Amino acid sequence: MPCYSSDKLNELVMEAKKYTAQGKVADYIPALKKENPNDLSIAIFHSDGKCISAGEVEKKITLQSISKVLTLALALMDCGEKRVFEKVGYEPTGDPFNSIVKLELYNPSKPLNPMINAGALAVTSMIKGSSINDRLERIRAFVQRLAGGQQLSYSEEVARSEFETAYLNRALCYFMMEHKIIEENVEELLELYTKQCAIEMNCLDLARIGLVFAMNGEDPFTKEQLIPKDIVRICKTFMVTCGMYNAAGEFAVRIGIPAKSGVSGGIMGVVPNRFGIGIFGPALDEKGNSIAGLKLLEMLSEQYSLSIF
Ligand code: GLU
Repeated sequence: MPCYSSDKLNELVMEAKKYTAQGKVADYIPALKKENPNDLSIAIFHSDGKCISAGEVEKKITLQSISKVLTLALALMDCGEKRVFEKVGYEPTGDPFNSIVKLELYNPSKPLNPMINAGALAVTSMIKGSSINDRLERIRAFVQRLAGGQQLSYSEEVARSEFETAYLNRALCYFMMEHKIIEENVEELLELYTKQCAIEMNCLDLARIGLVFAMNGEDPFTKEQLIPKDIVRICKTFMVTCGMYNAAGEFAVRIGIPAKSGVSGGIMGVVPNRFGIGIFGPALDEKGNSIAGLKLLEMLSEQYSLSIF
């Protein structure tokens, strides 16, 4: 599918790029430190097949937390809503993505929602398959289908770098094991989770996935229903309430579209029935969202009335 560079979009990228200097590349996963903080790119896929882009669009990024929406969709397809929400809740936390404090809030204990790390780890533990490799392959193949079919893989370097330093995620897993939310080997689950987070793609692929969510689970080109409509609705709701870390409220007011960000600087945006948006800008604000990516979305939302509210 061709994607055309847009002058208008280029102008907005240049304007938003000014904010990259105020952000910082994530460094708690050592391999992410290498990104250029000044990068900013965007692709917008329209439901009629048109795609426009600006910036370093071919550059690959790892999905990180954006993968949480995709594994939530797959776990719901694998296990059904009832079983998934026995293990994770529906409520936003207002806390950072890796926070441990509210894990004891529910009785019996469970993570508040599937977009924080604890919830996402619980969701990944529900992905079916005969082995870690088989489960990873199911996730990878599912993501690849959503992205339009071209070959996707994960970054071994980023996955290993996170696996070796994932002390907090290990702590979250052991806590959840105590409470029977997770019932598998923690090291194996972390291997699967860090590889899922390290799946790589460019912002065109990301926009293409966003478009499938925008079209209620249907691939607008092949007309194949890739995700059941009800499951897409659940995912989009979580994107609105918890998709942008503890800035989801402000994001809903200022921009107003379902979106999910990741610490690699990616943002996947969904404009219902219209477009999928993929952004990459690795300089993050203090809450972990791409600082220039947010500015860019704010300008777009204002100029093209994208808010769903
Ligand atoms: N792999 C990252 C972690 O678990 C994802 C975090 C994120 O992108 O928010 O820490």
